[in-house]
Amino acid sequence: MKTPQKIGFVGLGKMGFPMARRLAGAGFALTVFDINRDVQQRFVSENRATAAGSLPEVAQNCELIITMLPDSKAVRAAILGEKTEDGLSVSMGPGTILVDMSSSAPLATRELGKQLAAKDIEMMDAPVSGGVPKACNGTLAIIVGGTQEVLECCRPVFEVMGDRIFFSGPLGSGHAVKALNNMLSAAGLVAAIEMLLVGRRFGVDPKVMNDILNASTGRNNSTENKIERYVLSRSFSSGFSLDLMVKDLDTAMELSRELEVPTIFSNCCRELCAAARQSLGKGLDHTDVARWFEGLAQIRLGD
Ligand code: NAD
Repeated sequence: MKTPQKIGFVGLGKMGFPMARRLAGAGFALTVFDINRDVQQRFVSENRATAAGSLPEVAQNCELIITMLPDSKAVRAAILGEKTEDGLSVSMGPGTILVDMSSSAPLATRELGKQLAAKDIEMMDAPVSGGVPKACNGTLAIIVGGTQEVLECCRPVFEVMGDRIFFSGPLGSGHAVKALNNMLSAAGLVAAIEMLLVGRRFGVDPKVMNDILNASTGRNNSTENKIERYVLSRSFSSGFSLDLMVKDLDTAMELSRELEVPTIFSNCCRELCAAARQSLGKGLDHTDVARWFEGLAQIRLGD
């Protein structure tokens, strides 16, 4: 199998925009689509890429199509179409490869993969970890589910966007690992916020305490990369939304229920984050969750 050169990219959001920009910069022939036409227009005015007028138009001329959309529902709609709108699959020929790089639900991915296989379309899941800064400089971790053969043929494409590419197993396994990782990451964030609030009430400066955690066994990705930068600074600007984080926690909990593995602690974390989102409202950064815990404790971590 040869590495595809004509690539369609659907979803130019906070992550998709810089990922697609790297593909355009690497010389792939890129066709892009986003339902937000302003963002699509901005992309083609800043990069060497063609704007498609519709989803079927993306697929007409591409050997590989990448989706980077909010969730499985959006991915399914973009591929299979909805109500009056045709999707990508209408014009995807046999042998086309579809790679879903969104953080989607693994069971839905498996189902979609079966439907596409019936049309001789190869599907892979390749969710990413690392956030907006790593999407910008091409250092994402990419977790690939599917077949080794298709991974090897797409590897040069992945290597433009990420510097660690993992094969996790059959289709859907990348999405499973990604959701489970994000559950663990959220648990680290919530635990750090709670402990910093206790420390603050005792009279310890949160910045000093966070520095101590980072030199101690309690450190995690949030203490190292999020607390000072986004919470203590009050910028709450990581680029990963609270809405998407709660979606990922729902995905992880659905999977644990489906597989009948008890996850009582994780479920508690999911409930807290979902309550925070309910109370704070939509459209916020995931680090805004700290403000909800501050409200419960009636203490602020930053000025
Ligand atoms: P986003 O909301 O910023 O972007 C989603 C984009 O998809 C938007 O531009 C939207 O207009 C577009 N879109 C929605 N439905 C569409 C459709 N049917 N057809 C075409 N375009 C459509 O989200 P994001 O932060 O870029 O995240 C994308 C995915 O990556 C999510 O699954 C998220 O969980 C995951 N992710 C995000 C981060 C992060 O730090 N933001 C990190 C890793 C993974």
